[in-house]
Order: sequence, then C-alpha cells, then structure tokens
Amino acid sequence: MDDFAQHEPLFTFGVIADIQYADIDDGYNYSRSRRRYYRNSLQLLRNAQESWSESAVKPEFILQLGDIIDGFNKGRNASDRALDTVLREFSSSPVEVHHVWGNHEFYNFSRSALLSSKLNSTPHTDRSLRGARAGSDIYAYHFSPFPGFTFVVLDAYDVSLLGREDSSEQYRKAMHLIKQYNSNEDLNCPPEAGGLLRRFTMFNGGFSKEQLDWLDSVLASTDEKRERVTIVSHLPVHPHSTDPICLAWNFDELLAIIRSHSSVVCFMAGHDHDGGYCQDKCTGVHHLTLEGVIETPPDSNAFSTVSVYEDRMVLRGSGRITDRVFLFPGPQSDTDHRA
Ligand code: ZN
Repeated sequence: MDDFAQHEPLFTFGVIADIQYADIDDGYNYSRSRRRYYRNSLQLLRNAQESWSESAVKPEFILQLGDIIDGFNKGRNASDRALDTVLREFSSSPVEVHHVWGNHEFYNFSRSALLSSKLNSTPHTDRSLRGARAGSDIYAYHFSPFPGFTFVVLDAYDVSLLGREDSSEQYRKAMHLIKQYNSNEDLNCPPEAGGLLRRFTMFNGGFSKEQLDWLDSVLASTDEKRERVTIVSHLPVHPHSTDPICLAWNFDELLAIIRSHSSVVCFMAGHDHDGGYCQDKCTGVHHLTLEGVIETPPDSNAFSTVSVYEDRMVLRGSGRITDRVFLFPGPQSDTDHRA
C-alpha cells in the first residue's frame, strides 16, 4: 500500500455516516447496549471537516450516508435548527456534499419537505434530465466526478412506512409487506422468527420496482461504457456486511441487479453503527457498512477518506474505521460468475 500511496490518485472523496446530531445529553440505543453522543457528534463532524480541508489531496466531494440529525429533534421542535447546525458545519468547506436519506430524515421531515430541502443533493444540471433521477418522488440519482467513474445514490425508504402519507397507496403496500413477516404490535420490534427476517421492522425499508428498473438501466449503460460504479444507500444490502436487523427489506432483489452487471465495484451504506464489510463471492464487489458517528466516543473519530486509482480504491479510516484496499473486480469476461 505504501508503494502505491506514492502515486497520485485520480480523485479522492470523504465518507461519513449516522451523525444523528441533537442538542441533548448522551443517551443509549434501543437495546441500551451502546452509548450515543448526541452533542459530540457535531465535534466529530468538525474533526472530519478539518482533516479533509487540511489534507494534501483534498476530497472532490463528501458522501453523507444518512441519519444526519436524530429523530429526538422532532419532539423538541428542533428539526430545522439541528439540520441548520449540521449543514453549517458541512459548509465550512466549499466541497460538494452528496446526502443519502435514512430513517431519521423521515422522523424529522416529510418526503416532500426533504425533496425541497438542502438534503436533496441531486446535481442541478441533472434535475431536468430524464434518466438521471429515478422517479418524481424517489430520491435516487447518479453523478460522475471523474471520467470512467459513476456514483449512484439510492433511496432505501422508497418502499416504507416512513415518509409516506398514511392514506397513500405506497403506505398501504408497505404495510401489507411488513405485516406478512412481522406480527408485533410495535413494528419497530423485529419479528420473533429471527435470522434474515429480522429486517422487517419499521425503521427499515426497500426499493420499489420503479427504482430497481431505473438502477438496472443506469448499470446497463455503465457496463457498456466499462465504467466503475459505486452505489450508496442508507441501508446495507449484503447479509454479510451487517447485522441482518439493518438490511433493506428487498436486499436480495438489489443484490441480484448488482450481480447481473459488471460495472459495480463497491456498495457503501450506514445505518448499522457497528459497521461491517464483506466482498461478494459472486462478483468481487466490496460491501462496506460504515461505523456511525453517533456511537463513537468523543476521544475517537468515524470518518474515512477514499483515494481512487485505475485499479483500486484505498480507504483510510480515521478513529474506529479500519483502513481497507478495494481492488476492482476483474474485467467483463467474468460474466459466468455474475449470473
Ligand atoms: Zn438509520
């Protein structure tokens, strides 16, 4: 890795997940097994911003993987204030930020409010372009920061009880789906059945057919151009990259699409604050779940800087995030293993 570090990367970018800022005292997660540092998460974001702005090769952009502020803000009428506070911290440097939406975005704001907020980072030039966006109220888009490289932002709560009006057809369909697996009165409690079915909780969601079809067509185009694609989503989709309780409802359908295309090299998610990683055996695609800022002690950090080369991405983790090298999977001749 040291030899390699002497070469200039093509470009670099920063990644940070689950800041969940709130101006409240520390607390605990649902099972009371992890401490949450609601105020200090802002300081850890500041540390990340300082590190990125002082680095010799500055990031081209930042990926913010969702849950930027905590749901507790809603009950305190502090959603707008908390969001302003965090976004002000991000704007301390001029670098572009791509925001992913998580469950906590929907605890604080409606889908329509989010679409017209600063958390909608769809590039302005793309908003009117057919194909760049997945659908009228689906928050998914792609961008290319460097020739030959595409990033796709996915909406993991497109099919969900969160962010959909109770009276809508989408809500009714999501309720029908979750009830097939989860009979608990509190749908935030995972089903008794355990295993992979634990993902059917209200704090998760999934991808509609419309979004899956859109992704499929985006990847058909990047395959053809032999590009390298990184997909980002709040929810992980590989069962070995996360505790199954954090998986997207239809992770299997998303994985099948990734496996049917040769251009995807990496999938990045947040949501599971303990983080995780695996390399898909079928495709060699790297599935990274980034450790969450909110459960990171004040004397540590949780951000990473990724340098991209022709044949790999080199991730330098800060604090509790592990350094990793993601070699790009082989050329298209591998298709036998990708079905
Ligand atoms: Zn989350």
